[in-house]
Amino acid sequence: MADLKTIEVPIQGMDCAECTQHVQRAISKLDGVQSVNVLLATEKAVIRLDPAKVDLPAIRKAVASAGEYSVPEIASPPRSSSIQNFNRQLMIVLALVFGVVLSIVIAGEWLGLFEYLDALVPFPIGVLIVLAGGLPVYRNVIRAALRRQIISHTLMTVGVIAALVVGQWVTAAIVVIFMRVGEYVEQFTTESARRAVKELTSIAPQTARVEREGAEVEVPVSEVRVGEAVIVRPGEKIPVDGEVIGGHATVDQSAITGEAMPVEVANGSHVFAATIAKLGSLRVKTLRVGADTTFGRVIRMVEEAEAHRADVQRLADQFSGYYLPVVAAIAALTFLLSRNPLSTAAVLVVACSCSFALATPVAMLASIGGSAKRGLLIKGGKYLETLARADMVLVDKTGTLTLGQPQITDVVPLNGMSASEILSLAASAERYSEHPLAEAVRAAARAQNASLYEPQDFESMPGMGVRAKINGNIVAVGSRRLIAAAESLPTVQELEAQGKTLLFLSRDDQLAGILAAADTLRPEVPTSLAELRALGITHIELLTGDNERTASALAEKLGVSYRANLLPENKIEIVKEYQAKGHIVVMIGDGVNDAPALAQANVGIAMGAAGTDIAIEAAHIALMREDWSLVPQVIRIARRTMGIVKMNLAFTALYNLIGLSLAAFGFLPPVLAAAAQSLPDLGILSNSARLLRQR
Ligand code: ADP
Ligand code: MG
Repeated sequence: MADLKTIEVPIQGMDCAECTQHVQRAISKLDGVQSVNVLLATEKAVIRLDPAKVDLPAIRKAVASAGEYSVPEIASPPRSSSIQNFNRQLMIVLALVFGVVLSIVIAGEWLGLFEYLDALVPFPIGVLIVLAGGLPVYRNVIRAALRRQIISHTLMTVGVIAALVVGQWVTAAIVVIFMRVGEYVEQFTTESARRAVKELTSIAPQTARVEREGAEVEVPVSEVRVGEAVIVRPGEKIPVDGEVIGGHATVDQSAITGEAMPVEVANGSHVFAATIAKLGSLRVKTLRVGADTTFGRVIRMVEEAEAHRADVQRLADQFSGYYLPVVAAIAALTFLLSRNPLSTAAVLVVACSCSFALATPVAMLASIGGSAKRGLLIKGGKYLETLARADMVLVDKTGTLTLGQPQITDVVPLNGMSASEILSLAASAERYSEHPLAEAVRAAARAQNASLYEPQDFESMPGMGVRAKINGNIVAVGSRRLIAAAESLPTVQELEAQGKTLLFLSRDDQLAGILAAADTLRPEVPTSLAELRALGITHIELLTGDNERTASALAEKLGVSYRANLLPENKIEIVKEYQAKGHIVVMIGDGVNDAPALAQANVGIAMGAAGTDIAIEAAHIALMREDWSLVPQVIRIARRTMGIVKMNLAFTALYNLIGLSLAAFGFLPPVLAAAAQSLPDLGILSNSARLLRQR
C-alpha cells in the first residue's frame, strides 16, 4: 500500500444537505481516494488519498462535475451573507412572512382566486411567467440531468410541467415561488447550523501588543513569535497561550472553561488565548500562538466534529438517497390509478429529501457548538450518540477523582537512614518526573530544605515509579511493583488503611524508606456520582495503579467497585474486557498516563483538559475545567441531543408520510403541497436551536 495522506480541500457552493452527498460521491469515485468526509458546516472535504494517484486538479475537476460546486484557488475567507447575521427576531419575521404568504395561498385556493387569475391572464403569458420565474431552478435541474442526477427540484419541475399540461399556470407559478422560497429556507437552515461553529471562531483574538526593541507594537496575532513578550491591558483579550512574567490580573477564562467566575493570575501562572484580562495588566511570555493554543485546538476539533458522524446520520443519508426514487414511483402509481395530473403534481411537489439529511447535523452542530462555549469539547456526533447509550463508567483515581495534588504526610526511614536523607534521595530521583506524586515529593523536600542531587540515567516507568543513579547509588522510588517491599511492616498496613498512597524507596535494591502521600477527593465527586446513578449508570468502577488497601478505602467511601495495582496497559485490557461483554464503556481520566485507555473506551472523557495536549488529543470529549458536575451534564446533553435528533427524524418522516398520502389521494392541492414542502426545515431548525440554549 502506498503512503496515504489526509488533505483538506475547501468547497464552495454547498447550500443544502443534498449537496454534500453529491460532492462526497464525486470525490470518492476518484481512483486513489480512500475515504472522503464532506463537511457542510466548515465547507470543506477531508480526503484520505494516495498522492501518487490523485492530485488537487483532479479533485477540483471531480467537484465541478458534481454540480454548482467549486474548489476555490486560494482559501477565501468565509463569505459573509446577510443570512449569517441570523437572530431570533429575523427568525420570527421569516415565520410571519411565511405564515402570511401561506394564508394568502390557502385563502386564494379556497376563494377560487387562482381560477379567476387563470381565466383573466391569457395562458401563453402565464406560461412565460412560470418559465421566467423558475429559470435558475430549471437550469440546475437540466445540469443535474446531464450529469444523470435527480435532485428534489427535478421532481418538482415535473410537477410544474404537469400543472401546465392541465392548463393551470397559476398553480405552476405558485409551486415555482415556493421552490425558490424553499431553497432560501434550506440555505438559511444550513447557515444557522454553521453559525454555531462560526460564533466560536469569532471570539479568537485578532491582534497582540508585542514588545519589540523596547517599544510596544500592535501586530496581527499570526505574527507573534514564540518567546516574545506580549502586553495585555485591562479589558483586553489575551492573544496567546503563555506564562505571566509581570503584573497580575483577574482573568475571565469562560471562553475556554465555560466558568464565569474570573481567576486570579500572577507571575508564573499560565494564561490562555481568547480569555480576557478583567482587572489589571499583564506581561505574558508567549508559549503558543494561533492554532497551537488550547483555544485554537478547540476550534479545530469543533470544526472537525462533523466528520465523526453518528450512525443515525449515516442511516438518514442513505435513506434520503432512496427517497426520491420512491417518491417518483408513488407519483407514477398515483397517476396510473387516478389519472389525475394535479394529484400527481402534488405528490411530486410535497416531497423534499433535504429534511432527512438535515435533521441530524443541524441538531448535532447546535449541541456541539453550544457545548464548546460551556467548556465541553465534544469531538463528534458519534460520541454524543454513544454516550447517550452508555451503561458503565470507569474512572481513574489520581488526578481524576482526587485533586491530583497529593501531600507527603509521613516519612518512615528504615535500615539506619534519616528522614531528611530519604527526602533528599527521593526528591533527587523524582527531579524530572511529571507525576503528581513526584511534585509532592519535591515540595516536601523543599519544605525541609533537603539537599538535592542531579540524577544520572533517569528512567520513568509509567504506573510504577522512577529510577535514577544518585551519587553512584541506584535509587528507585515507586510502588510495590517496582520495589520488593516488606508487606508485613505494621506501618505499611496502618498507613494504607488510612487511604494513603505509599512510595517505597530503595537504594541499591535495599529498601531504605517509605513515604506516605495523601490526596484530597474532589469535593463535588459524591454528588456527581449520585447524579450518574440517577441517570441509570449504576456500574461505576475505580481503576487505579495504587495499591489494594488505598483503593478499597476510597472505593468504599464512594460506594463504587474498584481494581487496584493496574499498569496503564491493564486499564486498556479492562476496557476491552467490558466491551467484549457488550457494555458501552465511558472512561474518565486526566489523560496523563491513561490516554490509551481513554482512546480505547467507547467514549473517553478527559477531565480538566485545558492546557494539556495529550488529554485533548486522546479523549473523545474533553472537559475544559476540573469540575465533576460536567460529567452528568454531558450525559444529559447527549441524551437530549439524541432525543431532538430522533424527534427531528420522526417529525420529518411523519410530515412527509402525511403529505404524500394526502397528495396521492387528491386531498392536497399542489399549491398547498408546495407551501408545505419547506416547513419541515424550519421545524428542524427551531427544534434544534433549543440545544444552543441549554444550561
Ligand atoms: P493512577 O492509576 O491512580 O492514576 P498511576 O498509574 O499514575 O496512578 O501510578 C500508579 C502508582 O505508581 C502510584 O500509586 C505510585 O505508587 C507509582 N508511581 C507512579 N509514578 C510514580 C512516580 N513518579 N514516583 C513514585 N511513584 C510513582
Ligand atoms: Mg492518573
